Amino acid sequence: MELIKLKEGKAEILVPKAERIYDAPVFYNPVMALNRDLSVLLLKVVKAERVLDALSATGIRGIRYALETEADEIWLNDINPEAFKLIIENLKLNFEGELKINERSATLKDKKTLIATNKDANLLMAEKFRYFDFLDLDPFGSPVEFLDSSLRSLKRKGVLALTATDTAPLCGAHPKACLRKYNAKPVRGELCHESGLRILIGTVVRYAAKYDLGVEVLFAYYKDHYFRAFLRLKDGAKEGDKALKNLGYLYFDTKAGEFEVERAFLPSKPDAFGPLWLGPLKNQEIVEKMNAEDKGELAEKKKVSKFLNVVVEELDVPFFYDIHALARRNSLEVRKLSDIAAMLQEKGYRVSRTHFSPTAIKTDAPFEEVLEALKALQ
Ligand code: SAM
Repeated sequence: MELIKLKEGKAEILVPKAERIYDAPVFYNPVMALNRDLSVLLLKVVKAERVLDALSATGIRGIRYALETEADEIWLNDINPEAFKLIIENLKLNFEGELKINERSATLKDKKTLIATNKDANLLMAEKFRYFDFLDLDPFGSPVEFLDSSLRSLKRKGVLALTATDTAPLCGAHPKACLRKYNAKPVRGELCHESGLRILIGTVVRYAAKYDLGVEVLFAYYKDHYFRAFLRLKDGAKEGDKALKNLGYLYFDTKAGEFEVERAFLPSKPDAFGPLWLGPLKNQEIVEKMNAEDKGELAEKKKVSKFLNVVVEELDVPFFYDIHALARRNSLEVRKLSDIAAMLQEKGYRVSRTHFSPTAIKTDAPFEEVLEALKALQ
């Protein structure tokens, strides 16, 4: 395979030369540098020691965790033998120290311990029971096939980081696939990204509950056609019960754009979307700390700052009003978000922008008030 050398964050990385990223023998997507930047910041803030990059490809993620955070034992795994070989090359490129290579594993002891393995991630996670403090699942498509093993492989208070790129099922373009993978009914339209993220988290909550584990969302977001969630496990049956109480349903009236949420085990009305997570999408202290971290060495420092500034200010309430969609659905003209926000704030409501959409607002104002403000500005 022909390789080219790149720099991302503090890492140097050999990646296959390819016309299109999905044709490459080992996967590397430069667009995901922002995902890795945010993951580095979160890991710096939560300070985990033993880390697993379970689906590692070139090794970039795990190598960046080793170089840019305080983690001191980092595992990098991939089932693809070509990926395993490339991970070893990339370890040599970024670290000094003795490298011991076996058929299916390689260990490098520098100041930190780095372990590369060439296994099915589920097998590796099954072998490492309650071992990791931080476990990253970054699959092609959905992470569900790795969820059970990851919850068993994490310590009882560990952090699960997961990516889902299967936006078609989660955003309602393939509802049958969403039902099969996530046991949930997805919504289409302007709320689909937030709903998809909440379906993903809701699924983890249900998987975790059977192990008497609860879940706290440290930070979860949608960007660049993928979902990402960082979830802290909480030990105990009570914590599991508490997390389940935050599950519920979304009702969405496509005529006017009004929505309603209901926390319940079963929906009380027809045409419910979900089940989905209705709890917070961030821990305010964590996202503020991430934003306060030095971003100088990140790959996408400007984009990270811009994104985190919105996240830090974002009202953490379920769902939002997309003003373009609201105007269209009610045969009105679009008006500036700032003007609508000012009118609602004058009445005492809280309003913020949302990272889910540049044309939307999050608010604690009821639907009628938002529609009234838009009408008043016509
Ligand atoms: N984490 C990488 C990054 O940030 O660049 C990208 C990972 S790529 C999206 C997914 C990887 O999962 C591929 O390299 C693939 O070979 C690997 N993979 C797929 N199924 C696997 C399995 N069952 N066990 C281990 N690795 C697997």
